[in-house]
Amino acid sequence: MLLEELNEQILKCKKCSLCKTRINVVPGEGSSRAEIMFIGEGPGKNEDEQGIPFVGAAGKLLDKLLASIDLKREDIYIANVIKCRPPGNRDPLSEEVEACRPWLDSQIEMIKPKLIILLGRHSMDRFLPNQKISFDHGKPKRRNKQVYYPIYHPAAALYRNELFEDLKKDFKRIPKVLEIIEKDKVVNNKEEKVKQDGLGI
Ligand code: SF4
Repeated sequence: MLLEELNEQILKCKKCSLCKTRINVVPGEGSSRAEIMFIGEGPGKNEDEQGIPFVGAAGKLLDKLLASIDLKREDIYIANVIKCRPPGNRDPLSEEVEACRPWLDSQIEMIKPKLIILLGRHSMDRFLPNQKISFDHGKPKRRNKQVYYPIYHPAAALYRNELFEDLKKDFKRIPKVLEIIEKDKVVNNKEEKVKQDGLGI
């Protein structure tokens, strides 16, 4: 199956109650051959209205951050842990994350990104449970041959300058993380943490 065909199926999904309150399903956007996949929490109001991930102020900030490392949306793939907006932008419920899990897993399986960037704590919880975003942001970790890089969510950084500064710094290191993966310098240690060769952390 192609990614486009998978996303067509996601558009019809009614596996959890969010299907009753959504305007649009937001499966994801970008290149099916992307080396880097960004995963956020879930669609907000603008995304729900337009069916596109990361539009509005947080999306504009993401575009600027991508440009700071010479990337465009077309170079990456961007998706969310859940594909439909929770009413009032509340946190996703565990049953909603579980219902949506196979969709995101299938997208990752098809895209096979070298690096998955986890935007914010809900996205980090989905792949790296029991970690704290305030402590673990900017620290790449390997799980089952996949490298994850948790960073702050752009929406959180919009209103908190200290988070914005951390987000900018973590973003700037994305090319280095990718370079290390590509050169196969990433080595598991016993805690399954990526060897932080050249990352200064
Ligand atoms: S959030 Fe996911 S599981 Fe729930 S209806 Fe939307 S696509 Fe389906």
